[in-house]
Amino acid sequence: MRLYYDDPTLLAFHATVTACEPAGDGFRVALDRSAFYPTSGGQLHDLGHLRADGHIVQVTDVVDDEGAVWHVVAQPIAVGHTVVGEIDRGRRHDFRQQHTGQHILSASFDHVCDARTESVHLGLDTCTLDLHREVSADECRATEDHANAVVWDDRPVITRYADAETLASEPRLRKATGRTGTVRLVDIESHDLSACGGTHVLRTGEVGIIVIRATERFRGGTRVTFLCGRRALEHYRALRAALDATARTLSIGSLDVPDAVAKLREDLRLEQRRAGDLATRLSALQADALASRMPESGLLVAHLPDADAQALRAAASHLVSAPGRVVALTGGPSPHALVVARSADRTDVDAGALVRKICAAYGGKGGGKPDLAQAGGVVATEAQLTEMMRG
Ligand SMILES: [Zn+2]
Repeated sequence: MRLYYDDPTLLAFHATVTACEPAGDGFRVALDRSAFYPTSGGQLHDLGHLRADGHIVQVTDVVDDEGAVWHVVAQPIAVGHTVVGEIDRGRRHDFRQQHTGQHILSASFDHVCDARTESVHLGLDTCTLDLHREVSADECRATEDHANAVVWDDRPVITRYADAETLASEPRLRKATGRTGTVRLVDIESHDLSACGGTHVLRTGEVGIIVIRATERFRGGTRVTFLCGRRALEHYRALRAALDATARTLSIGSLDVPDAVAKLREDLRLEQRRAGDLATRLSALQADALASRMPESGLLVAHLPDADAQALRAAASHLVSAPGRVVALTGGPSPHALVVARSADRTDVDAGALVRKICAAYGGKGGGKPDLAQAGGVVATEAQLTEMMRG
């Protein structure tokens, strides 16, 4: 007998062990009556314990196997023993809030924008429902308002039973059931009628609040992630902590964070552009300084400690704009960025081939064209590079 069917608030009960058998690393126990909810219908099982002869045995899983409810435990309990079952109150209440909230939200999507719920997932961290079509942000907001109005109406949630055949002609039924025989119905006054075996609250007010957290396109429809009751409160607290921490860092009010971050991004973009312009000007100055000590041979190897790949390219291009030159510039800490370039008239030199040769000898990856090539991750001294460039 499943006690949660008729009283989802029952958290302690007496029962007699009717079966006990090995299962996995432990055992599974069946009782003549149980208030434990087994994983089924998209809802997770209860947790809790069984007390027998003064011993407490934790229930780590509850399984629905061919119509029987099995309680998974670490130690066996002999058949015929009387036990007291006690169910974890917080977890049960959380699932009752999420599950009833899902009924209310699904029915609201039906009523407000004719979007059918195709499947439901009620997880430990995340609850989702999948709608048969895409819904807009405006439709979601209207549905959320509608659902919360039903919550705050504090309407009764009634469980009753009906024959599957008479149920077929019930116009209020939200979704046809594939079941036969007696069907358990969950009736939310003037809002939703669904065939369901889960645990629900007794009045909609107990759900507290329903919040749509996110929507995403999913299989031609929409996946809606939602939070009810205590989970919505916890999530609000997490958001508030994150936003307040950001606001304190910026010394502004929490609601000013979006504008302030947008302004910071714009400031950063302008600063990056300014830094880029300065780096280009600096590399031109460095190139001028290098040109003043250009050897007779026209081959120059030099290291620019502050230059990144972009600054190296700018300096090398500047240097080879005069005829007769071949340059190899490294930049930054080791392993270095490397740029090899040649003047247009130095067709006897292939910069790409030189870079590949240097990488083969001193590590790094790169390549390029005969007039300009570059690499990253090169570990070579100026003397070693000079030798490679001459060879
Ligand atoms: Zn349900």
